[in-house]
Amino acid sequence: MKFKDLHTAFSLSASLLESQTYYDLTKGLVELLLQFDGVNSVHSYEILARKEKRNTDPDLLIRRFPMSLDEHYVDHNQSIINTIAFQGSHGVSFACFANKPFIIIYLHEDTAPEKLVLAQGEVSEFDAEVIRGLGLIFDRQVRLFDAKERDPLTLLHNRQTLDHTLRQVIDFYKTKPSSTLSSWLVLFDIDHFKKVNDTYGHLYGDEVLIHFANLMKQQFRHSDFLFRYGGEEFLAIINQTDRNGLLLALERFRSCVEQYDFPSGKVTVSLGCTEVTTHAAINNMIEIADEALYKSKSNGRNQVTFLAYSEKIQADSDVELF
Ligand code: GH3
Ligand code: MG
Ligand code: MG
Repeated sequence: MKFKDLHTAFSLSASLLESQTYYDLTKGLVELLLQFDGVNSVHSYEILARKEKRNTDPDLLIRRFPMSLDEHYVDHNQSIINTIAFQGSHGVSFACFANKPFIIIYLHEDTAPEKLVLAQGEVSEFDAEVIRGLGLIFDRQVRLFDAKERDPLTLLHNRQTLDHTLRQVIDFYKTKPSSTLSSWLVLFDIDHFKKVNDTYGHLYGDEVLIHFANLMKQQFRHSDFLFRYGGEEFLAIINQTDRNGLLLALERFRSCVEQYDFPSGKVTVSLGCTEVTTHAAINNMIEIADEALYKSKSNGRNQVTFLAYSEKIQADSDVELF
């Protein structure tokens, strides 16, 4: 498609402004860029964390976004992303890497996590101007959606975005009824967190929450979805694994928290989990995970409990009503 006239440029801008979520916005921008003559491929990323020391090799925690649940994450752009993350300027720019031209939309000022849209290819002068305009709109919209969809303390997604994400996960499995792998809903609740606040103060408590969220970002895969559910409670949707894989990952995380040196010393976490099923209501799944979490607490904390949907139904029908 050629963007020869201003009318087309305006309608492209409008389509970005109509996005209702950051997910739709990013997906929309990637699809728009792919329509420009000369653009061969487009990928978008979030840079979740980076090493503070700038004199060593950059160690970035990058996530492709949006990513399909069954996509195997292999990124050939890793070294390009490293270069951009340490030298790139905010906004739209054009550069060559390994003799290939790229269009870069990189947002890192006052944006967390940092956002990067990387298009391989070369466009006309006019199209480059249109892309600069789209980059500006993307920048403004990203700030709005970050404020709306993220928890400002940990930068994880907030509870309001959970429904939308879970619905997407459920829709994915509806289109793949024979899938042998599943997604899993996990609730995390930090043990005796009130004591941390009472002993060290609220600011230390906040620091513990930030460290805890960072451990989650490091320990779980790029394709898993992480949320701050409220106070000292977190939620994860662990994608595309079986029950054994899930329990191994959760046990590894539990033990990692137990061994970690938090600003306030040692901290433990209790977990409750259940399967994401296509036939249960979202509220019911959360209720089951919550019940599993309650069992972890009442059995002594610092442990993982799994509760299946069928076990819950069975347990409920065992209750005699008088
Ligand atoms: P349990 O092991 O049963 O989970 O005990 P707990 O003390 O962790 O649970 P409780 O629900 O009694 O206390 C949670 C505490 O978390 C109380 C509240 O003050 C604190 N909290 C909630 N949100 C924040 C926050 O954003 N920052 C800080 N510092 N504390 C918070
Ligand atoms: Mg709690
Ligand atoms: Mg707690």
